[in-house]
This record gives sequence, C-alpha cells and structure tokens, in this order.
Amino acid sequence: KTFEDCGFPVELLKAIAKQAYEKPTAIQCQALPIVLSGRDIIGIAKTGSGKTASFVLPMIVHIMDQPELAKEEGPIGVICAPTRELAHQIYLEAKKFAKAYGIRVSAVYGGMSKLDQFKELKAGCEIVVATPGRLIDMIKMKALNMLRATYLVLDEADRMFDLGFEPQIRSIVGQIRPDRQTLLFSATMPRKVEKLAREILSDPVRVTV
Ligand code: AMP
Repeated sequence: KTFEDCGFPVELLKAIAKQAYEKPTAIQCQALPIVLSGRDIIGIAKTGSGKTASFVLPMIVHIMDQPELAKEEGPIGVICAPTRELAHQIYLEAKKFAKAYGIRVSAVYGGMSKLDQFKELKAGCEIVVATPGRLIDMIKMKALNMLRATYLVLDEADRMFDLGFEPQIRSIVGQIRPDRQTLLFSATMPRKVEKLAREILSDPVRVTV
C-alpha cells in the first residue's frame, strides 16, 4: 500500500514525500482509509508507530473539504493530548502538512503564557493541539469556540485518564457538535477508556497494531 493509494491530493503527497515518508506504517495502512472515509476509529497504537500522521493527514483533507474557510470562527480540528511534550510533537507534525495549504495550527498547553495563547487563538486557527486543562481555560476565556469543530482526536486516551483528565475530556467533547468525526487513540484500553469510547464514538472501527 502507498500514500498514493489513499487518494491524497497532490500537494499533500508532495508534503509527505518531502518528509521522506516512503510508505505508510502499519497503523497508517489500517487507519488512513477508515478515517478518510469519515468513520470514527479506535486506534490501539503506541508512540513511534506513526499514529500522529494517521490522524493529522486526514485532518488536513477534512479541513480542505470544508465548503468555506471562514476566519476567526474557531478550530475545525481539535486534538487533545496528555502532556505538553506530546502536544508539541503533534503540533510539529501537523505544521509539516498544514503549511502547504495555509492551514493555521495552534498549540495550547500549560507552562506557556495564557495571555500569549489567548492572543494566538483570537487571531484564528483551523487546528488546535491542546492539553485538556489548558484548552478548557482558553474556552472559558473565550479565546476560541467549538462551533466549527467537526474533527476531534483524543490521543493517548489511557494516559489522559491516568493523569485525571477524564472530566476535562468529557467537558470538551460535550462542547463539540455530535455529528463530528471522532478518533480515539490509546496504547491500552482499560475499562474506563472503553466506556468513554462507547459513549462518544459512533459505530467506530477498531484497529490494533
Ligand atoms: P509517531 O508514532 O506518530 O510519534 O511517529 C513516530 C515518528 O515516525 C515521527 O518522527 C514521524 O515523523 C515518523 N513517521 C510517521 N510516519 C512515517 C512514515 N510513513 N514513514 C517514515 N516515518 C514516519
């Protein structure tokens, strides 16, 4: 299987080639067609598997498919991650592919100035990568709204639960329209994560690598 087989637009294929990603990894082979078809997914995969690209690349396509890219109406793609380190890694991966399309990516996590983040979000973005607590702070400060969000990723869901972010995750999910596409990635599926998945995903496909 190749990235060409996935039907990505030419610009995106060029950006992928520029990263020297020769062929999709195992999780990408399984997840990309499902996510590109618009289905919800549970991906059981660890860091290092290439899971980030398996949700970032279809996110770019999803955003390009929006009929109009009205500015300053909040993100279309929302990614939640447990730690600032992971959020930053995802931010860098998203930037690689967003750039060619003028898609704006913002990262929001603890340890950075709230005022700076507020200003950045106010300027508008199509993708936000965030740790749950800080994203809630930003929503409360009205730095962004979720009206336009239609693509939600929960990355390393098991770790977010371990860190006690379940209430924040539920609050964020509750603010995003129910007809969204939802992707949940986790290295393990403890019962609590399984329960959340049952509640917030619709008819998900499960892939394991
Ligand atoms: P991740 O598991 O998403 O953290 O990705 C691990 C590393 O693999 C990152 O440095 C990615 O940039 C890289 N990567 C992702 N997909 C591919 C691919 N198809 N071919 C080669 N490297 C990749």
